[in-house]
Amino acid sequence: MAENNECTHDCSTCGADCSSRKSGIPKEQLNPMSSVKKVIGVVSGKGGVGKSIVTSMMAVEMSRRDYTVGILDADITGPSIPKAFNAKGGVVSLGENLMTPHTTISGIQIMSVNLLLDEETKPVVWRGPVIAGAVKQFWTDVVWNDVDYMFVDMPPGTGDVPLTVFQSLPVDGIIIVTTPQDLVTMVVEKAVNMAKLMNVPILGLVENMSYAVCPDCGKAINIFGESKAEATGKQYGIPVLAKIPIDPRLTALVDKGSIEIMDNNYLSAAADAVEGL
Ligand code: ADP
Repeated sequence: MAENNECTHDCSTCGADCSSRKSGIPKEQLNPMSSVKKVIGVVSGKGGVGKSIVTSMMAVEMSRRDYTVGILDADITGPSIPKAFNAKGGVVSLGENLMTPHTTISGIQIMSVNLLLDEETKPVVWRGPVIAGAVKQFWTDVVWNDVDYMFVDMPPGTGDVPLTVFQSLPVDGIIIVTTPQDLVTMVVEKAVNMAKLMNVPILGLVENMSYAVCPDCGKAINIFGESKAEATGKQYGIPVLAKIPIDPRLTALVDKGSIEIMDNNYLSAAADAVEGL
């Protein structure tokens, strides 16, 4: 059960009144060869706000702290994780419907639909239930090797697909990614309500593209207007974990598939929060 560490994610063998039971959907089970200790969902109100880059950077940050880290790319129609890590293929079938994830240079385990397609530019035109089914299989049919922290790059929004994914995976905490324009109360409120519905703790907010730094004078410029992170965090009682600037070096790292060599500590407070779970 979610309230203690002995959850088997099998409601039929447990009588606890926890989130798995409340959602009415039993949590998917890992295969016997897998081990995942904590699952952190990275969510956003809409696409394009930097959910994937935050997921990737969180994974790198935790890996540098000597944890074994996995990324489950649940953003099936817009998978961006393999690109950030230059991950291609590397998924090996083990028979009996099991497969290994791709393992990056620094040892991060990744599963994404793009690792399974012959051409990464092929669009995935599946309907909601099929998408949710694929995400569940990434959890159940992949051999996750002793993962301490699994980051799930959630499908954007708070619609049917993210909700099903949320209900099917045993998520221990979520990080909400927003941008100053996206950080309208409504978007955060929706994410907060979804987390409450699932009985999942919110670790905090990450405001991405919060500002830009002038290369000549070093002054911070609020391109999208004043940050609303603190006010919104206060309103919902959620900590602000990070304010990430628009940083062209980040774009370049993602484009080169070299996010593992990033040299910033934008997410160190967020990593502390994850460690404290
Ligand atoms: P999402 O997962 O929310 O759709 P992405 O993480 O894929 O968004 O980000 C969209 C694009 O913006 C990517 O090309 C990414 O490299 C770029 N990007 C995101 N955040 C930043 C940032 N803080 N600085 C520079 N580029 C960024």
